Amino acid sequence: ERSDLLVVNNLAAVYNHAVSALHGVSLRVSRGEVRAILGANGAGKSTTLKAISNVLSAVRGQITAGSIAFDGLDVAKTKPSDLIRAGLVPVLEGRHVFKSLTVEENLNTGGLGRGSSRAEIASDLERVYTLFPSLTRKRKIAAGLTSGGEQQMVAVGRALMARPRLLVLDEPSMGLAPIVVQSIFDTLRKLNREEGLTILLAEQNAAIALRYASSATVLENGATVLEGPADELRNRADVREFYLGSS
Ligand code: ATP
Repeated sequence: ERSDLLVVNNLAAVYNHAVSALHGVSLRVSRGEVRAILGANGAGKSTTLKAISNVLSAVRGQITAGSIAFDGLDVAKTKPSDLIRAGLVPVLEGRHVFKSLTVEENLNTGGLGRGSSRAEIASDLERVYTLFPSLTRKRKIAAGLTSGGEQQMVAVGRALMARPRLLVLDEPSMGLAPIVVQSIFDTLRKLNREEGLTILLAEQNAAIALRYASSATVLENGATVLEGPADELRNRADVREFYLGSS
């Protein structure tokens, strides 16, 4: 369908040629939506996002079946750097902030490789500081000396410097205080609503994800078991019981 920016079809993946991690993950992300991937620890969320970013081989994993298309591009045949240039920009687990570089140097690395002018990079940088005002005061500080929440903002800001068309986030809430999580999700919502940025995020925290996402895909044991609009899933008894901690 024309409105689908990302189509994952019946994906299977293994680690170390043996451990089966995914066997039947299907999901679609349409233009302009915020889609959440939900699931318990080990359900396959991170593996799915690594496959979508084509970085599975870096952790001794590989796709064994299925397909991933980003705007018609065959993801498995496209280098991660080329995916970023095409607009598929991931913020993966652990954030991978360069701790000894300053906040601003970290942000600037996100603008490399796009062939932007200095003026464009400067204006993108100002935009990131507008979105994450608390980074402004820390621009000259080593990223490793900032808080976990600020490091997550640096990771997201650096991704924004690459001008994504699809921003992919693995557990943006991980290890952060609720108020920080909310502020980051508010910023993501703003990017989606005001700039039409399409977002795909994996979350173990289903409550917050379903509050901010427009739709969700639920994984269990490496396969898609449910998908639908966020408000529909939020009202399902099974989702409430297993993922929202209420019945
Ligand atoms: P989490 O929230 O813990 O990251 P997840 O839903 O993201 O969970 P994955 O990390 O994708 O789940 O894990 C899916 C399966 O693959 C699990 O059985 C896990 O043990 C296995 N797995 C994940 N990473 C590796 C790896 N680097 N090597 C071997 N097995 C792995």
